[in-house]
Amino acid sequence: MAKRDYYEILGVSRNATQDEIKQAYRRLAKKYHPDLNPKNRKEAEEKFKEISEAYEVLMDPEKKRLYDQFGHEGVSQTFRRGGFTWEDFTHFADLEDILGEFFGGSIFGDLFGTRPRRRSRRGGNIHVELNLSLEDIVKGKRTTIALNRYERCPSCQGRGGLKVRGCPTCGGTGQVRTQTRSFFGSFFRVGSCPHCGGTGNIVTDLCPKCQGKGRIRRKTMIEVKIPPGVREGNYITLRGQGHWDQGGSGDVIIEIKEKPHDLFAVRGDDLELEILVPYSTLVLGGKIEVPTLNGTRKLSITPYTPPGTRYKFKNEGLSRYHGGRGDLIVTINADLPKKGKDLERLIKELRSYEKPIVVRKPRT
Ligand SMILES: [Zn+2]
Ligand SMILES: [Zn+2]
Repeated sequence: MAKRDYYEILGVSRNATQDEIKQAYRRLAKKYHPDLNPKNRKEAEEKFKEISEAYEVLMDPEKKRLYDQFGHEGVSQTFRRGGFTWEDFTHFADLEDILGEFFGGSIFGDLFGTRPRRRSRRGGNIHVELNLSLEDIVKGKRTTIALNRYERCPSCQGRGGLKVRGCPTCGGTGQVRTQTRSFFGSFFRVGSCPHCGGTGNIVTDLCPKCQGKGRIRRKTMIEVKIPPGVREGNYITLRGQGHWDQGGSGDVIIEIKEKPHDLFAVRGDDLELEILVPYSTLVLGGKIEVPTLNGTRKLSITPYTPPGTRYKFKNEGLSRYHGGRGDLIVTINADLPKKGKDLERLIKELRSYEKPIVVRKPRT
């Protein structure tokens, strides 16, 4: 028997739009579905397959082009083993839409295996922010952080129930071969057992401690070692310390935040400090103490040091993650003396030693 024309099968014109093709298929799929034709099931199966083949070809621009140009001969090679089988059909989702509404939805998901199968999930990650002082950044820190996380239920060891037996559906293997109905004859797929969720076990006697969830929320303290040199926005991941679930534990992700310091300004790996010294110290010179993150350093101010002079203390800055440290940069400025009559007399005397006003480009 000669193969019928695809357009004729679906009852559409050669320039039908995809929507029109879809509509035609929708109508015919309902008409020929074998379950709706119990009296002449065999014939309905043939028809159903025939319209699905036509639909497969006419909905696919490339296959449609081959068909329009070369007829059945042109398109047959796009099917496996030279002729259309259900394995060549790529529109099960449409079919599920069409027939799902007809049968109430559920049956086609199981039939075609398009329903997402339950999987044993991994537990979620826990995000924690950790505030570090600059001192912590330099030295590193051991600390404990409080987590409110899901843990495996100790009563049922995470199974959710107190009694466990082999799943009768899959015989404890966790897998089932799904058989399709007769007219999708070639369909066998091995999938996760829907009864036991792929675990192979059925749990009975719900665990009262976790209400069958297999996990409980608990406050836990965990110890964390922060290496020197971590900086704002860095992340430290503690693998397997997050929420527990059947598929394993998630991670704890620690995000580092830098606490602003009362004294030091941060410029990259360097620290900056401004020190106001008496005017006399700038003119006459003197020794001052400079605070650092770990203590103090001595600084000699030579006589006639201009305000704004910068001193650099090597390796007194922040630690670098890959080793070494930044610097501490100290700017010395003058602090004006307190107001006073005697002072003004002294300052007027000072005038005679002063140079004229200088205007210049700022030094960087
Ligand atoms: Zn439990
Ligand atoms: Zn099972």
